[in-house]
Amino acid sequence: MLNQTTKLDQSLPAVIPPKCPARTDRPSERGFFWWAADGSDLPGWCLEAKVMPITDKREGGAGDAYFVPVSAGSLGRDIAAVRDELGDDAYLIAVVDVALSPTWSARVISLGADDVMDVTATPDVVIARASRALARQSANVARLEEVASDRAFLQTCIDTLPSPIFYKDRQGRYIGCNKAFSAFIGRSRAEVLGSTVYDVAPPDLAKTYEDADEALMQERGVQIYEAKVCFAGDDRRHTVSFHKAAMIDEGGEVIGLAGAMLDITEHKALEAKLIDAAERDPLTNCYNRRKFFTAGAAMVEEAIGGNDPLCVLVLDIDHFKTINDRFGHAGGDVVLLEVAERLDDRVRGDGLIARAGGEEFFVVMKGKSLDDAVVYAEMLRNLVARDAVPVSSGSVTVTVSIGVAQLHAEDGGLNDVLKRADEALYAAKASGRNRVHRAEILG
Ligand code: GH3
Ligand code: MG
Ligand code: MG
Repeated sequence: MLNQTTKLDQSLPAVIPPKCPARTDRPSERGFFWWAADGSDLPGWCLEAKVMPITDKREGGAGDAYFVPVSAGSLGRDIAAVRDELGDDAYLIAVVDVALSPTWSARVISLGADDVMDVTATPDVVIARASRALARQSANVARLEEVASDRAFLQTCIDTLPSPIFYKDRQGRYIGCNKAFSAFIGRSRAEVLGSTVYDVAPPDLAKTYEDADEALMQERGVQIYEAKVCFAGDDRRHTVSFHKAAMIDEGGEVIGLAGAMLDITEHKALEAKLIDAAERDPLTNCYNRRKFFTAGAAMVEEAIGGNDPLCVLVLDIDHFKTINDRFGHAGGDVVLLEVAERLDDRVRGDGLIARAGGEEFFVVMKGKSLDDAVVYAEMLRNLVARDAVPVSSGSVTVTVSIGVAQLHAEDGGLNDVLKRADEALYAAKASGRNRVHRAEILG
């Protein structure tokens, strides 16, 4: 029955929480405490139930239960103040020396108590209820700690990796990243979380990324692509390989995406060097025969497709054997290098030039008629012959003979036009060398 003289004070002014006189008892292992303001002796049931007196909240006392005797006349103020002092993780049992109605008990609980023990209550039942609640609470705390420690461990794992890693939710908001990603973007993890690509990239680029993300999540697949990016505080452009995948939950729903950025700048530079080395002749640094046939074949196809004129020049140094005989093989190399350099410097930009082998060069050029190509060949012939080439023991005048041929509709490919240019070269040699000869026009 409700004691009619008891009034609940709901004004909740600031009050001094009840405290019992300082005692030095060690808190019991069970974590059940009697926290009395008046310092009165413990009730008998407390001793039986091993409930210990205490004056201050225990350090790290999450999971402890506190019996707090409160005056029936100021229940509201006292409960709120005690709760304030104990914090939210302590189990607070309001002990009232009157009989409370269920409505009042509920009120006391709503004001901050976890349970109410009035004069009609049985301590064993209250303690059993508290034990059960505390056991559940400590299980939850343990589970949360485990989850937090798992998260911290995973964060440490990805923070250890040097490659930027990020993940986003279905709406494209960043929900996680590692230190390398923070460094890449120039923002702390806290700043990254919750932001979108529009917060970290210019609008047009952000739209491209957003579209790619959306396509990935729609298709539920994996995206691997290369992009040139700048890291925060570093103006150099890095080539980065993005590896992204849609994240799908156990129910088959797409919940976001995860991505990693691998910096492949050095790898790309090495790859470019290797490709270049494989395409060039080591002595002259001109393109080699292999490059000529792959790139030349593509030019022929383009010319056929576009109905554009295309001509091939075959150049051969005259009497090179005698140069070798006079100056030795090394002297011959010097001459070869000089001739290659003059030709390469002049032709680059106009067409493709390659060392075909020995002292022979191929040139393929688009957009020139046979007449124009012959004029061009004359210019090259002059370029070689005009200035003597310095060698160790003086200098030597070097000449080249050149055969020129044009691609015809009937040609099957590069080899056909090359064959005619080669025949024209032979004709140039036969007619005295240091001259340009054109292939017969077909038909
Ligand atoms: P022609 O006017 O008929 O072309 O006479 P040629 O002497 O230039 O032609 P031939 O084919 O008889 O000789 C070419 C020489 O080029 C033979 C070869 O030893 C030399 N040769 C080929 N490759 C190199 C090279 O890399 N360095 C040097 N120094 N000589 C080379
Ligand atoms: Mg020769
Ligand atoms: Mg030759």
